[in-house]
Amino acid sequence: MNCVRLVNREHRLEADESRWTRELVWIDENTQLQPVCARALNDWITHCGGEAEVTFVSGWRSYDQQRTIMTETENERGWDYAHQFVAEVRASEHHTGLAIDLGIAGKDQDLICPDFSGPLADRMRECADQFGFIFRYPKHKTEITGISEEPWHYRYVGLPHAQIIADHDWVLEEYAAFLKAYTQARPYLYDDGQRRWQLWTQPLAETFPPTENTSVESSQLDESTCLFVKALDPDPIPEGRDRAWVELDGIALRHNLTVLRKAMAPHQEIMAVLKANAYGHGLEPTADFLSRQGVRHFAVATIEEAKVIRAINPTAEILILGYVPPQRAAEVSRLRLSLTLTSYDQACQLDQTGFTINAHLPIDTGMHRLGEAAEDLDAIVRYYSLSHLRITGLYSHLYEADNLDAEAVAHTQAQIDRFFHVADALKQRGIDPGRLHLQGSYGFLNYPELRCDLVRFGIALFGCVAPFRSRMELDLRPVASVHTRIAALRSLRKGEGAGYNHAWTAPCDTTIAILSIGYSDGLFRSSSFQGVEVLIHGQRRPLIGAMCMDQCLVDLGTLPAAIGEEVVVIGVQGSESISALEVAEKTGTIVPETLSMLRGRMPRILV
Ligand SMILES: *Cc1c(COP(=O)(O)O)cnc(C)c1O
Repeated sequence: MNCVRLVNREHRLEADESRWTRELVWIDENTQLQPVCARALNDWITHCGGEAEVTFVSGWRSYDQQRTIMTETENERGWDYAHQFVAEVRASEHHTGLAIDLGIAGKDQDLICPDFSGPLADRMRECADQFGFIFRYPKHKTEITGISEEPWHYRYVGLPHAQIIADHDWVLEEYAAFLKAYTQARPYLYDDGQRRWQLWTQPLAETFPPTENTSVESSQLDESTCLFVKALDPDPIPEGRDRAWVELDGIALRHNLTVLRKAMAPHQEIMAVLKANAYGHGLEPTADFLSRQGVRHFAVATIEEAKVIRAINPTAEILILGYVPPQRAAEVSRLRLSLTLTSYDQACQLDQTGFTINAHLPIDTGMHRLGEAAEDLDAIVRYYSLSHLRITGLYSHLYEADNLDAEAVAHTQAQIDRFFHVADALKQRGIDPGRLHLQGSYGFLNYPELRCDLVRFGIALFGCVAPFRSRMELDLRPVASVHTRIAALRSLRKGEGAGYNHAWTAPCDTTIAILSIGYSDGLFRSSSFQGVEVLIHGQRRPLIGAMCMDQCLVDLGTLPAAIGEEVVVIGVQGSESISALEVAEKTGTIVPETLSMLRGRMPRILV
């Protein structure tokens, strides 16, 4: 449950903005929000089908931004207007990162009065409370809020607050006044149709955070009162989360996109590399999400992967990075895919089929994988006279861009020089090389200054960059997390073995948990012998014994746990986290392998 501070307009926030901003995530180029608000907003907009239409006019505002808005409005519209419609510095709900101003794309957008109206706005208004939002300033409540109607302004208050407020047609102030009448001895009981809740308040001075009871959440109601919320029924198990599953953090993915776009030169575009089932994240949900965020170039390894993207995105450029036999020319042409010309023979055979084929030409600048040697310009130029091939891009691949040693940097620099030499030489001969691209994630992070048109981002999009391999420090966040549940618990005496071959014996009396995930879900079978841990109740516990195909074992020690509880294999739980990088390093591999091993049978759930 996401219970948030019900700070109202009268409440003076502390001068220290960092308390609110520590956790903010980027929603788009202009808007930052608290993660809990961003996530709920994402769900709300997706539910109403408004991804392309809703614009975020404003989210979190610093005091400086608020001051600027006030000054600008005073200058443009006069003092009276400004102080009627714009919140004073430190009195804005936007300072919390929990308030949003929404607009509809294409409608008139005023700095302080975005137009949030029309069928989509109505639809969103109707179900706002299901997602934890309240419509903050309705016209008929002007007297209570002291602010005129603002149909564009919503405030995240979480469940069940939003539903209670909606049920009673209250504003936040009325709800706060209502809650103050309820104490622990006589709590307010609320049934939202799925779960029953208990709510009560206590003076702040008397409040000790309940530590042992994790089902109770507390938050500050106002300057003097603490609010408690307790769910009387367990969280319902959402679809797909019963055995083992992968969660995709849409907010993190959007955040990474924004961060990368800001770091790139304005004319450069992202080519999202989604091979290997989008590095294990699930090709379909990832391609769909990125397409909605305006990504227009994709790269994959196979025609089958390209087909999935084409079905989602009819106009994007989809480049196949590997070999495609000429026999598939008809299909490639019909789907308007772009091929990599992997040899002159292949290119001639493709040309002879008579189908018009879009292609990018790879140049071997030192990796010795695909492409003509950068030195052999005549061999390169030949491709451009094949009349059925439309060569729209020139690219190469850096083979050690993630290595910061002086020698590796020199190799990379030589690759870069060779690549641009080819591009320039082609231009001198009157050949347009099309879009240039050379960098993958580490290529960009370590050589951001290159004059390329596209950057082929894979692992950086998914937020799993090794900091010690990159010069540029970008705030990239992991998108995927892997979850499972405890299937059974078992007490073992010292010396008793467990699992196949009794590869593990209890060093002392202990309890083990059986998890519903195994090597056929994509964990390395060796990982239980390599010190890999999982998170249970926010604590690290080691995998033990020989991992099974669909199950594995964990030594709980004295940690109390129950059947059915969620376990995090990769991701965050409480204040602990296990990154894909940690698992990769322990099992002697790299993050892309760890992630791309995750099998398709685990549902991918966009959160
Ligand atoms: C996989 C791949 C990429 C993406 O690499 P990351 O390091 O994950 O960004 C880029 N270019 C080519 C040619 C690739 O094969």
